[in-house]
Amino acid sequence: MAKKQFKAESKRLLDLMINSIYTNREIFLRELISNASDAIDKLAYLALTDESVGLSRGDFAIHLSADKAQRTLTIRDNGIGMSKDEMEENLGTIAHSGSLDFKKEMEKREDIDIIGQFGVGFYSAFMVADTVRVRSKKFGADEAWCWESAGADGYTMKPCEAESCGTEIVLTLKEDSMEYLEQHRLRALIRKYSDYIRYPIRMEVSEQRPIDGAKEDEPKFETVTEEQTLNSMIPVWQKNKKDVTQEEYDSFYTEKFYDYEKPLSTLHISVEGAVTYMALLYIPAKAPYDFYTKDAKTGLQLYSSGVLIMDNCAELLPEHFRFVRGVVDTQDISLNISREMLQQTRELKTICTNLEKKIKAELLRLLESERENYEKFYAAFGRQLKYGVVSDYGMHKELLQDLLQFHSDREGKLVTLKEYCAAMPESQKPIYYVSGENAARLPQTVTLRARGFDVLLFKEQVDEFIPQTLGSYEAHDFRNILTDDLELTTQEEKQAAQEKAAEFKDCLAFIQEALGEKVKEVRVSTELGRFPVSMVPDGGMSFEMEKYFKAVDPNADFKSGRVLEINPEHALLQKLQSAMEEDPARAKKYADLLYSQGLLMANLPLEDPTEYTALVCELIQ
Ligand code: ADP
Repeated sequence: MAKKQFKAESKRLLDLMINSIYTNREIFLRELISNASDAIDKLAYLALTDESVGLSRGDFAIHLSADKAQRTLTIRDNGIGMSKDEMEENLGTIAHSGSLDFKKEMEKREDIDIIGQFGVGFYSAFMVADTVRVRSKKFGADEAWCWESAGADGYTMKPCEAESCGTEIVLTLKEDSMEYLEQHRLRALIRKYSDYIRYPIRMEVSEQRPIDGAKEDEPKFETVTEEQTLNSMIPVWQKNKKDVTQEEYDSFYTEKFYDYEKPLSTLHISVEGAVTYMALLYIPAKAPYDFYTKDAKTGLQLYSSGVLIMDNCAELLPEHFRFVRGVVDTQDISLNISREMLQQTRELKTICTNLEKKIKAELLRLLESERENYEKFYAAFGRQLKYGVVSDYGMHKELLQDLLQFHSDREGKLVTLKEYCAAMPESQKPIYYVSGENAARLPQTVTLRARGFDVLLFKEQVDEFIPQTLGSYEAHDFRNILTDDLELTTQEEKQAAQEKAAEFKDCLAFIQEALGEKVKEVRVSTELGRFPVSMVPDGGMSFEMEKYFKAVDPNADFKSGRVLEINPEHALLQKLQSAMEEDPARAKKYADLLYSQGLLMANLPLEDPTEYTALVCELIQ
């Protein structure tokens, strides 16, 4: 029979598996059993509404059998099975993202020891088997199909016989993998990796038992063969907290959610009340690559009385905590409820509100007592929290504001708003912030720093919406140090500034005239320290926003007005002032120079960098 070819991605992964010298190959069993359990989940769910399934909860099982003579290990389930097309599609391609992540990681680094940390799926069978044969009959189909492969050079498919639906996988083990035919080895593996599987994993076990009342000349022992269930079938979340080790929690997480990094935090919750439920929640250490796209799958797994009802139930989590992974199990939801109806049930809302509180409390705990972990969390999901603050008209700001962090200019690290306010000097009233890549180098920041005030440096687009949404924090207003009055000056200083402005009236008018349309306003500032100018937006949209909108739509006409602030104390301004009468052409060049400097300092593009360079050289000579 002609061999069919694997898809390219799969072939590569398969190669990695076949040639793996990985010591932890034993995880293949966990992967195959987990597939069998998923297939049973699907049929069990169908059985709730479709009488023709003819199986009830107690009928489902996974069977293992080892045949030393044939060197085969067989894993059989009575789940939903696969049709011919599904078999071809599922076993010829890399199905889940765990495998893909794994493949990418493997190609990055040569180290083989990471296999076990991924959900590598079906292909892991090739770590221990020379040949893999899959016989499967889909529920409701008339025919069964057999898929067979001896490695990366392809596979064959042919029709076969099967009485009932389900899948049987027969592994012909490699010479060096015979240990997986030993009862005690299989038993230990099931205990280690698959104990929580909610269907019995059964195996024919032969044991030597003493014979009661055997006479002198009779055998003392007999071999008894019987089917035993190898797993406790209690899911981790249903166990008593004190009986579960962190290792167990972690490995449940990495297996179930295909992450290869341990979670930062585990929440095991058991609630009895208006709604009774158990939950096992995890805060991941990093965001999935597609987390901030619309493809991201979020939500918790929902079980009811041991049956998986929904894989990604978004209604169980508020949007702002959608990074949480985990499982909720409740008996208070009817098994037969349609998914559409489910989303509106009161029970889910109650659980969601409840979980929101617990997640917030856990994040605060991390923030206060495991700062390093919190920083890790924040690097991955901080942006989601910020989105949460500004979304829904600021409805969630009370809940989330204490979880926010921003870069502190003074501390050189992230601080919370609470920490920022606690460290304010007595004389400081507002919370100062500024956005942009060069925020730390702006004259206003430098001035404030010199006076002992800290500034929050906004680095992300969404940051700019936070002050607007929060309004204030602990009765401190927010001030954008580029556009708002900093209230640094005393009454006398204000007076002096006004006098200066009056003195510079002609100079301001001259610059305005020289620059024309390019600037909306030219004004005096006393907060520029040793810098001659500063370009600030005329309120409303910041330059950062402007850049953002430009990037989104290059043709759109988004431009905030440019206001050129000048420092009357600076020598250049005094030069300009005296040149105004003696050599107006030169004075105009000074004005152009100041304008370009303003653009540069604000990280805005120069209109003509070549001309600017020529101008600087000319003025120096
Ligand atoms: P994953 O299980 O993560 O999706 P696998 O490579 O392990 O990835 O399996 C690929 C697909 O093959 C599964 O998603 C499932 O649709 C199908 N499959 C695997 N094993 C079985 C089984 N025992 N019964 C039914 N379908 C199965």
